[in-house]
Amino acid sequence: MKTTRHYLDHNATAPVLPEAREAALRAMLLVGNPSSVHHEGRAAKRELEKARAEVAALISARPQDIIFTSGGTEANHLALRGLRLPKNADGAKDAAAFRPLIINATEHESVLAAASALDGRPDTDGVTRNQMALCPVDQDGLIDFAALRHCLAESSGPALVSIMLANNETGVIQPIAAIARIVHEAGGLLHCDAVQGLGRLPIDVGAADGPDCISFSAHKIGALKGVGCLWLRPALGLMPFITGGGQEQGRRSGTENLPAIASFGAAALHARQQLGAMKGIAALRSYLEQRLAEIAPEAEIYGRAVERIANTSAIRMPGLSAETQVMSFDLEGIAVSSGAACSSGKVRTSHVLKAMGAASQACGEVIRLSMGVQNTMEDIERFLEVWKKIYDRARSRRPLSMS
Ligand code: PLP
Repeated sequence: MKTTRHYLDHNATAPVLPEAREAALRAMLLVGNPSSVHHEGRAAKRELEKARAEVAALISARPQDIIFTSGGTEANHLALRGLRLPKNADGAKDAAAFRPLIINATEHESVLAAASALDGRPDTDGVTRNQMALCPVDQDGLIDFAALRHCLAESSGPALVSIMLANNETGVIQPIAAIARIVHEAGGLLHCDAVQGLGRLPIDVGAADGPDCISFSAHKIGALKGVGCLWLRPALGLMPFITGGGQEQGRRSGTENLPAIASFGAAALHARQQLGAMKGIAALRSYLEQRLAEIAPEAEIYGRAVERIANTSAIRMPGLSAETQVMSFDLEGIAVSSGAACSSGKVRTSHVLKAMGAASQACGEVIRLSMGVQNTMEDIERFLEVWKKIYDRARSRRPLSMS
């Protein structure tokens, strides 16, 4: 008998939307290479630019400021490795490469890895980068403003700061406008990983106080996996690290993955039309967290005191490892994840919860539930029923305390 599945892991990836699948299939049938000048090439180019326009519309950007990449990971690496100060007034050459890097402690691994790879290394143009500074967060996961100001004051020159919009494990939203003001006042540039915010929060790159460069990923909003983009403020220089054919205005070479990009365009249009649906998701989460508090007041929810993206809940079940919980939920037909699972599927200590000051045992007992537009109250009721079942079973097996 086939059990009904309840997919509650949208921060890992979202199911492909029907319109995204159709767009991918349509693009797959196009013969041409978007860089070719003949009829077939021009048809492929039209499809590419249509998708770019849709992605741009979702974030109120100019299409020409969008650079398609293979995903959020590559966009983050491109930003951290390649971002340059605005061109000199005479436009003759790029200003000096960035030296200090200031990274939020709860960033996605791709940002942390890109920053550590650069730490202390000479840049392509021979400029040595200073040590990377990790900026701490408070117990709610919000960036510590005093520490950020301190890092900026201590840096030996204008810094490149990278702070995410919404955390992938807890959903905590950083106050990006206030952060951008602080960074800009200090003469720095702000990169923002907005992978988990796209389609869940309104994003307007033209807003007065905003990041200079933003990373996005397509598969979190129902497009195919393996595509994303970097938005870059006009006039900022970007040193490409994939060179060759000069695609994407020379900023990211390689023939574009047209089917995936076309699906990104279709998913972006869907996301623009569906932003209102986040209200319904927020109501489901409120219900879930309220009921959970009734079932087990000792269960903890990380980041609950501050603004979070509406679809995410990081829940601690005291006394049972996240790994066991994830497997138990799976056997009951529910897909959730341990916030700290890595690509190998192994669970490791969450650097996000650790940075928020959670004790190491607690860090290992937190699972992440993340919803999408397809989820309903039925999914939440089932989750609560199974959560209680797993918790009751774990408690009944726990040895009696002698204290
Ligand atoms: N940044 C954040 C916050 C993410 O959650 C993810 C994916 O989980 C990424 C970056 C990486 O995106 P991609 O899977 O497209 O490489």
